[in-house]
Amino acid sequence: MKLEGKVAIVTGGARGIGLCICEALAQEGARLAVVDILQETAEEAAEGFRARGIESQAFAADVANVEDVGRMVSEVVEAFSGVDILVNNAGITRDNLLIRMKESEWDLVLAVNLKGTFNCIKAVARPMMKARSGKIVNIASVVGVMGNAGQANYSASKAGVIGLTKTAAKELAARNITVNAVAPGYIQTDMTEKLSAEARDAFLTAIPLRRPGTPDDVARVVCFLAGPDSAYVTGQTINIDGGLVM
Ligand code: NDP
Repeated sequence: MKLEGKVAIVTGGARGIGLCICEALAQEGARLAVVDILQETAEEAAEGFRARGIESQAFAADVANVEDVGRMVSEVVEAFSGVDILVNNAGITRDNLLIRMKESEWDLVLAVNLKGTFNCIKAVARPMMKARSGKIVNIASVVGVMGNAGQANYSASKAGVIGLTKTAAKELAARNITVNAVAPGYIQTDMTEKLSAEARDAFLTAIPLRRPGTPDDVARVVCFLAGPDSAYVTGQTINIDGGLVM
């Protein structure tokens, strides 16, 4: 097992892609700090892992709230005596065409997806720098690279995550902390259930591998970036999209 004993914080880890990432990390031996905006949602997921003998604890935090994040990281470090891996997975959409997009829709998506990622990186940076090791994996999106009609807020937040990944990688490399991102394409989850049938068909015809991705497709690459096999990889964004963007 490649992550034996490693402590992993996964934001938005209670369901969807985040839950699958928790599962994949645990299969490699990681101990889980499952973070969700709601305590009971996080607790339900953590309890499910504990019932299977996997060391796991729930932590509530709104990643957009800097105080919440600071408290959550301190609690994790105290509970597990450190933190080795951070997966910034929590993310939301509030889709609308640019000319109809409300300021509140713009602000909320940027606050959770981009500022939330910044908040969490900043909070784990100190303990990881002290330990002179760490692995940070940010969940971006292919729409941060290619844009997508109706997602001005979301695509801008995910493009921001890619830029933030590169800067954090440069700043933290000297302390042996790698920072990478994955950019999933069309992955079957609750989030993509909200897409119209036309939008779904348009994605599928554009995907060379001719199928939507699964949360497990994402989790496997995250595991690689969180583990020892990616020791010499930093500042990169790996597309997980069936070839949609080349
Ligand atoms: P889901 O909506 O299924 O899950 C998102 C998780 O994040 C939920 O557990 C949710 O909690 C949590 N969350 C939401 N807001 C906050 C917050 N402010 N603080 C803490 N936790 C929060 O999303 P997916 O699993 O589909 O997506 C996961 C990530 O992958 C996101 O970053 C998304 O942008 C990205 N992605 C997804 C793609 C897809 O096709 N699905 C494609 C490309 C990228 P709760 O349930 O309590 O609201």
